[in-house]
Amino acid sequence: MKNIRRSFLKLLGFSYLSAILLPYNLAYSAAKKIINPNLTEEQKKIMLDQATEKPFSSPLNFEKRKGFFHCANCDAKLFSSDAKFDSGTGWPSFSESLPGAFKTTIDYSYGMKRIEYYCANCGVHHGHVFDDGPTSTQKRFCSNGLCLIFKPEI
Ligand SMILES: [Zn+2]
Repeated sequence: MKNIRRSFLKLLGFSYLSAILLPYNLAYSAAKKIINPNLTEEQKKIMLDQATEKPFSSPLNFEKRKGFFHCANCDAKLFSSDAKFDSGTGWPSFSESLPGAFKTTIDYSYGMKRIEYYCANCGVHHGHVFDDGPTSTQKRFCSNGLCLIFKPEI
């Protein structure tokens, strides 16, 4: 009986882990709200399906002005330019976010264990945060530039 059930689950492309995570994943995707009606297909793929933009593709890699980076979906203020640094990875990188800007979850996709962060306000995916940052926070928020809008200080 066990074997039958196991092969049935396999047939569905299920592992026990994904069966356990399924209710959580459904709840998580339901929590994502599209607020900006002008998002491109590429932005939606990243924000809703956790796709990753091509490295070195974001103009924000070169952004050096003072100001704040906002969520491209809901406009929440997420990062200060003071926390931005050049990580050499090809994605806009930050040593810390503004307080309460993001929530995190563990992402087991692609056989890796990574910490995903998503907008605390609208729930869309932004990137992954690593513990190899160069400043005292030791954090490296590896951001998809397409999820961000930069507003320079006036
Ligand atoms: Zn947002």
